[in-house]
Amino acid sequence: MFYDVIIIGAGPGGIFSAYELVKKNPDLKIAVIEAGHPLDKRKCPIDGDKVKSCINCKTCAIMHGFGGAGAFSDGKYNITNDFGGTLYEFIGKKKALELMHYVDEINMSHGGEGTKLYSTAGSGVKKVCVQNQLNLLDASVRHLGTDKNYIVLGNIYDELKDKVSFFFNDKAEKIEKTDDGFRVIHQKGDDACKNCIVSVGRSGSKWMESVCSELNIETKSNRVDIGVRVELPAVVFSHLTDELYESKIVYRTKNYEDLVRTFCMNPKGRVVNENTNGIVTVNGHSYEDPQFQTDNTNFALLVSKHFSEPFKDSNGYGESVARLSNMLGGGVMVQRFGDLVRGRRSNEKRIEEGTVVPTLAATPGDLSLVLPKRILDGIIEMIYALDKIAPGTANDDTLLYGVEVKFYNMQVDIDNNLETAHKGLYIIGDGSGVTHSLSHASASGVYVARQITE
Ligand SMILES: Cc1cc2nc3c(=O)[nH]c(=O)nc-3n(C[C@H](O)[C@H](O)[C@H](O)COP(=O)(O)OP(=O)(O)OC[C@H]3O[C@@H](n4cnc5c(N)ncnc54)[C@H](O)[C@@H]3O)c2cc1C
Repeated sequence: MFYDVIIIGAGPGGIFSAYELVKKNPDLKIAVIEAGHPLDKRKCPIDGDKVKSCINCKTCAIMHGFGGAGAFSDGKYNITNDFGGTLYEFIGKKKALELMHYVDEINMSHGGEGTKLYSTAGSGVKKVCVQNQLNLLDASVRHLGTDKNYIVLGNIYDELKDKVSFFFNDKAEKIEKTDDGFRVIHQKGDDACKNCIVSVGRSGSKWMESVCSELNIETKSNRVDIGVRVELPAVVFSHLTDELYESKIVYRTKNYEDLVRTFCMNPKGRVVNENTNGIVTVNGHSYEDPQFQTDNTNFALLVSKHFSEPFKDSNGYGESVARLSNMLGGGVMVQRFGDLVRGRRSNEKRIEEGTVVPTLAATPGDLSLVLPKRILDGIIEMIYALDKIAPGTANDDTLLYGVEVKFYNMQVDIDNNLETAHKGLYIIGDGSGVTHSLSHASASGVYVARQITE
């Protein structure tokens, strides 16, 4: 079959490409090839009862399928150029923000209406942070919540399903350059297209590397973020989360002058496993609907690691740290902050006696045996710094889950159209190494769709 456009990957990048292509030119022949299940078939077997932790499914329902890694996420669309990716370096700050707002409008018109848009503008929290050597980054945050995010995705799929050919449970294996475009070899067939949009996210990072090597597309090593997920009573952070929902706070450590930052804050949320290429790390999300909310808030504390010559494999380094925690804990490990600073492991009894009820069944252990000293020192210092603006953060019973690793794809050589040196081959979203968030990945999808149709 010959298509005008083949999109590989049905995460936010791929979905918004398809949406905008259809909107701008309904006559285009479009296919979407997705390794995972359709949205309604995506189900993680962890139920907290019979299946307590990750069983390494062949296709991880959290990471793959319609909606991509974002399908069961907290649905926090951060409208900002300050974090979430560097799309603005390619398309300009104004355009990037404009597209993020456009994506927000589409989400609102597909079931997201009524959800709150939070903003740091004019917030008193900024001053309190500065007074305590913490830097609150500027952003507007639309919180759809895991439940509403699912509804929005379902509505967008319903709108697209008759206009776009979707291939699910179908992994793209190879892209070949042809005289009039590209040939995409996938598990269920072999199709050709004039334009190919690759949007395979973090889970497609290894495949992306092989595509780049076969098509001689240059790549650059990216950073890796390593840290823990903190879980504490929601009241400790409620003065921040009620006003801002998510606060991205950065701290420069006194010891090493490393930057430690909060990431992915989930008020009244749950801590969850994340499986990337067989390595189990930790993440978090929360629901909009109060009946699914918990008494805890969780967020990550991360330290970025860049490597220079001769070592380039930052993801490999992150994987090794995560493997260590998987080896010692059989998956994700949990430790009370009090145990960590006293230099002892946590055990079932101490966790049970604690005042914070864990929302993820993880193995009590000792994170100091997993995390490099410099990273751990930075995290501990940041917890004490946060304790000044949110007293209770450094309580003994605060839970730390490890490890949380944010893998970034190799940065792929693309131009300002997000196009490779092969005309008609676009690489977008987290798979390009340029974006790291729902809003930036989605905006990159809209952007290439417009490049193609214009
Ligand atoms: C638990 C969790 C919570 C998160 N919460 C948030 C949040 O609240 N806010 C936020 O901004 N970001 C969040 N993120 C990150 C966010 O989900 C990603 O930044 C975003 O989904 C990236 O979109 P994408 O389209 O680039 O890639 P993805 O969403 O990763 O989608 C890529 C798709 O490509 C498919 N694929 C991969 N390889 C192939 C192949 N060879 N052939 C066919 N298909 C392939 C995958 O199955 C996947 O469905 C979260 C991530 C996780 C895991």
